[in-house]
Amino acid sequence: PLVLGIETSCDETGIGIVRGRTLLSNTIASSMDEHARFGGVVPEVAARAHLEALQPSIEAALAESGVTLADLDAVAVTSGPGLAGALMVGVGAAKALAVGLGTPLYAVNHLVGHIAADILDEGAEPLEYPTVALLVSGGHTSLLLVRDLTTDVELLGETVDDAAGEAFDKVARILGLPYPGGPQIDAAAASGDPAAIRFPRGLSRASDMDRHRYDFSFSGLKTAVARYVEQTPDASAPDVAASFRESVVDVLVTKALDACARYGVPRLLLGGGVIANRRLREVALERGAAAGVTVRIPPLSLCTDNGAMIAALASELIMSGRRPSTLSFGADSTLPVTEIQIAEAEAG
Ligand code: ATP
Ligand code: MG
Ligand code: FE
Repeated sequence: PLVLGIETSCDETGIGIVRGRTLLSNTIASSMDEHARFGGVVPEVAARAHLEALQPSIEAALAESGVTLADLDAVAVTSGPGLAGALMVGVGAAKALAVGLGTPLYAVNHLVGHIAADILDEGAEPLEYPTVALLVSGGHTSLLLVRDLTTDVELLGETVDDAAGEAFDKVARILGLPYPGGPQIDAAAASGDPAAIRFPRGLSRASDMDRHRYDFSFSGLKTAVARYVEQTPDASAPDVAASFRESVVDVLVTKALDACARYGVPRLLLGGGVIANRRLREVALERGAAAGVTVRIPPLSLCTDNGAMIAALASELIMSGRRPSTLSFGADSTLPVTEIQIAEAEAG
């Protein structure tokens, strides 16, 4: 099926067009520049930016893929989780488009969309199930067990406070580096010693393994960095950046590979904008290889928020015979990952 996907859960206005499992276009407009001076995504600003970016983005995506609206078999949209106001803009546009064109509409889960992005990775072998998936971005840090993309995604754990990307952004601010902080910390860390300072590993104690084995916590780490910088007048920014990054990466990879071992799954899929982190990719690949786990890292344009992954997920749902969503759905900022499609129409 030819599907156009709309993604507006955070600061990216993403329009993607796929045919079956083939990526035709992936247009991404970000309002990140407008948020930079606030040091974080401002929901109201993001929603307004989506409103302005949607129409030109749809036109650009159509032009790039050489299809017209009349060719579409379905429209897909992120219904949640994400920023409520931002989501509503995409949901409203998708409903209008689907009604106007008379095409089926599929409302889908953003997090599961991140996993579906892997399907569009041209060079890669088809994704096998089950797989463990680690999604790390500015808004989420989730460890998932995917038995089937369209029917069975289980949440193993998630962050109990800050998301990993958020931690990078906050620590960058402590070090006086501009927002978004992830790339800044990554660059600063390149010349630092990751073993210089032993920062805490959140929720990694033996006593955490009972209730929080696959959960993450980064706010204690951020506080530890702040305290260290306060108390160390001659602190080396590269060493702090490298040591902080090492703590985040260590916890992420350790927990993900622990889940692979425990569930007997020799596959780990990475997704989310923090996957841009060089050390994270390196450590995941190294330790994965040592543990006999194949680590899959889709290209970054498919890892950050985008519309193609939303179209890809809807395409999979259609190919597995799922009915479209009714128009009764809204934006659900806390949509659980187990709800892969929202408001599927009753049979008959
Ligand atoms: P969502 O959470 O809805 O997926 P988001 O916009 O918050 O969306 P992304 O756009 O996927 O998240 O990723 C942005 C985050 O990734 C920011 O927090 C940014 O600091 C972080 N990031 C980007 N590059 C790097 C890097 N090299 N190392 C660490 N973090 C990075
Ligand atoms: Mg973003
Ligand atoms: Fe996302």
